[in-house]
This record gives sequence, structure tokens and C-alpha cells, in this order.
Amino acid sequence: MIKIRTGEEIALLKENALIVSKTLAEVGRHVAPGVTTKSLEVLAETFIRDHGAEPAFLGYEDFPAAICISLNSTVVHGIPSDYALQEGDLVSIDVGTRYKGYFGDSAYTFGVGVLSPENQQLLRITHDSLFKGIAKAVAGNRVGDISAAVQNHVEPLGFSVVRKMVGHGIGTKLHEKPDVPNYGRQGQGKKLADGMVLCIEPMINAGGSGVYLEEDNWTLKTEDHKNSAHFELTVVVRSGKPEILSTFDFIDEYNKTYQA
Ligand code: MG
Ligand code: MG
Repeated sequence: MIKIRTGEEIALLKENALIVSKTLAEVGRHVAPGVTTKSLEVLAETFIRDHGAEPAFLGYEDFPAAICISLNSTVVHGIPSDYALQEGDLVSIDVGTRYKGYFGDSAYTFGVGVLSPENQQLLRITHDSLFKGIAKAVAGNRVGDISAAVQNHVEPLGFSVVRKMVGHGIGTKLHEKPDVPNYGRQGQGKKLADGMVLCIEPMINAGGSGVYLEEDNWTLKTEDHKNSAHFELTVVVRSGKPEILSTFDFIDEYNKTYQA
């Protein structure tokens, strides 16, 4: 069963989404050469707690950190460390919150300093594929319409979709039904209805779609060690036009790369 959320519940999910969005922007402001990923995590955890929320990833299935920080060929679930960021790195920041019994979850991939043209293209295509998917989060559509929109944006450009990890519903749990894959067929899968809340999160690789898990059992990397990017927003399925709960607007205030 996919939950249909009431207006009151969506208001609480929106409060979470705003804290998550502001946390992503706060972390992104500090992404620079020489900064350790551990220090970014500390910043994020402090920011989340200062807003009265809890970092939802800390302890989730024993995940050891407050946020995920995934560098370069790491797709998702990277664990913050003493690694100091270097010019040209890709830094995916994934933030989750728990606040007033509901959850928030969004992600953004930042670049450190000047990026190679290949990395710039990877970020732009992944970012744009998210919005292609979101546009299909409309009542009466199917999950496969979202999936196909993402896949059909990236594959013709020579990029590939990670199969192993998918988007998800969100509510009183961090991960709820349905799964929202970033590959699939139009018109297939569960039917979408007004009030369903989804986390749409394309994970896109510059090379092949293959991934493997590191020995820490969390860090998911590309098999060919080519780079990967990840963007995620929380969206309410609506009739006509989806309602986007989390936002990159706070990031757009200082990072002009993706503005329309
Ligand atoms: Mg998610
Ligand atoms: Mg996430």
C-alpha cells in the first residue's frame, strides 16, 4: 500500500524538507579545497540539531554518520572521513532528517573549484534528469513514467543509470513504498495518486551502470571507477502539477550553475 498523506502530514513533511534543503545549502557553502568531509558532517549535524531535528541517517541500519558524503566514483552512502577535498572533486551530499515524527531526504552534488567539462556535464545531466522525472509525478501516471523520463534523458547522452539503488516513498518512515527506479518503462508500475510523497533521486554514472560495495558495507562505488552524481528532491504527487517539498533555491543563491 502506498500511503496518501493528508494536508497536515504534508505540512510536517514540508518542514522536514525545508530543514534538509537549508542543511544542504549550509554544507555546500563550505565545500572547498582542503576541507575534510568529516568537518562537513559535523557542520550538518549541528545545523540539523539547531533546527530541532535529528539526523535520520545516523544509526539507520547502523550507518555510522549523520549524513552521506560520496566523492567522485562513489555513487552513494559514502562515510565522512579525514579526506580533505581537492580541486575538481565531485561531492554528493545526502541529508536526512526526522522531525515531529516525519522524515526529510534530499541530495545535491557539488563541485570543488573548477570542474572538468566531463564532470560539469555529468552534474548537469543528472540534475536535469531529476526534474524530467519530477515532471511525471502527476496523479494518474505510473511510477514507470518517472523512471523512463530519467532514463530517457541520460542514456541517449551516453550516461548510465544505477540499477542497484532506487528512489522511494517517504513519510513516517525514511523509506516507504513505492520503489522509484531511475530506469523503466512508461505506463508500467504502480499508479500515482494525489497526496503520495516520493523521493526521486537519479544516481547517474559517467561510465557503465555497474557498481560494487566496499568492505565497509556502505560505500557504493562504480565498477569502472568513473564518476557518478546524485540529486534528490521530495515531491508530492498532485493532479496536474507535482508539488516539490524540498528545494535547491538556497543553493542557487550562491551556485548559479543550474538556474534556468
Ligand atoms: Mg532517498
Ligand atoms: Mg537521500
